[in-house]
Amino acid sequence: MCASQLTDKEYHDRFMAILVDKKKNNTYKFALARFLLDYSISSNKSLKIRYSKIAKSFFKYYWLQECKSRLRQGPINQTPEVITIIRAEFADDVYPQSYKEIQKKYKKEIKCCIDKIVMNCFDDVIHRFHNSINVEPKNIFFDYFAIQYPESGNARIDKHGGILLNNDARSFFRKNYESLYKSVILEWIRFLERKNIGIPYLVQKIEGIEKGPRNQSAFLKKLKPFVDNCFYCNAPFNSKETPNVDHVIPYDYINDTDLWNLVLTCRECNCKKSGSLPPKKFISDLLTRNKSYIHMGKINEEMKKSLTKLSYEPYGLILSQEEQSKSKNGSEITLEQICEQRGIYWHYDNASKHGYQTSKKLVQN
Ligand SMILES: [Zn+2]
Repeated sequence: MCASQLTDKEYHDRFMAILVDKKKNNTYKFALARFLLDYSISSNKSLKIRYSKIAKSFFKYYWLQECKSRLRQGPINQTPEVITIIRAEFADDVYPQSYKEIQKKYKKEIKCCIDKIVMNCFDDVIHRFHNSINVEPKNIFFDYFAIQYPESGNARIDKHGGILLNNDARSFFRKNYESLYKSVILEWIRFLERKNIGIPYLVQKIEGIEKGPRNQSAFLKKLKPFVDNCFYCNAPFNSKETPNVDHVIPYDYINDTDLWNLVLTCRECNCKKSGSLPPKKFISDLLTRNKSYIHMGKINEEMKKSLTKLSYEPYGLILSQEEQSKSKNGSEITLEQICEQRGIYWHYDNASKHGYQTSKKLVQN
C-alpha cells in the first residue's frame, strides 16, 4: 500500500499509536511530533527539512523546559543528551532571561547546541518515529536517508541531510493541528508529571509559554504606602529611586503574580537575587509580613484573597493534633494560617528540590 492512499483515520491512529507507545525513556518523540505539527502550519512550503531546522525547535522546547522552568526529565542518572548539551552551554545565571533575550545574546552558544543536537540526539528518534509501530507502510509521515554502518550493523541518519515530509501527512497535520497538538502535550505531561509532582502550571511550562509577570506597577502602588525599607537588606528607600517589586519565590517557578509572594526591594538586592530563591530565613519574614497585613487591616481583603490560593496542598491538608485542638479552640491558629504557612514552605522546598538555586549574595541585616 502506498502512503498516499491512507485515510485521515489511518494517519490519526498511527500518530496516536506512536504517542502512547510505552517504549521510551525520554521525550524526544513528543518533541519531534510537535515539530512536525508546528512545521506543517508554518509558512514553509518545502517538504525537505534539514536536521538543523528540527534541532532548532528541539533547542527551544528543551531550553524553555530546562532553563526557564527546570522541569525534571527523568532520574538524575538518565538525563537526556539534549539537556546535557544545553546545560554545558548555559550557566545558571542565564536561566532567568527570556527565550527572546537569549536568542539575541547567545547566538554562538545556541548554534553550538543545535550542531550537537543534530550530531547526538536524532539517530534514535528519527528511526523510531518512522519504525516504532510494526505496521506497513512505515514511511507514512516522512522519509529519511540512513547510512548503514557494516561494522556495527546500526543505521545512522545522515547528519548533513534531513527528512522528506509526506505531503498528505502535512495536509493531515494542518487540518487537525489543534487536536493533535493537544494530544502531544497531554502525552508529554503524562510522561513528566510523576517526575515533577506539585509543580505549578505544568501544562504552561511544557508548552513553553512565557507570559511574563503581570503588570507590577499596580502592585508597587498597593505596597508602597506600607513599606519604607528593602525587604532583604532593610535599607531605607531613597526618595529618587523607585523600589523594585520582587517575587520572593521566583516567578519562573510560581508562574503567577500574587500579593502573598510580592515584596519591595532596592535595585541592588533585586539584581543580586534575580531568578533565585532567597535564603530560607526570609520565608518566615514573608509569613510575618503577610500576617501583619491581614491583622492590621492593611490591604487585607486582597491579601486574604491571594492567600486562599495557597490552601491548595498537593497531598491534602492533614492537621496535627496540636493544630486541630488550637484551631477548634479559637483564633490562636486558623486553618487559613496553616494553609498559608505550609503552602509557602511547600513551594519554597519544592522549587529548591527542582533546581532553583538559593542566592548566596543576599544577607539579612
Ligand atoms: Zn536591598
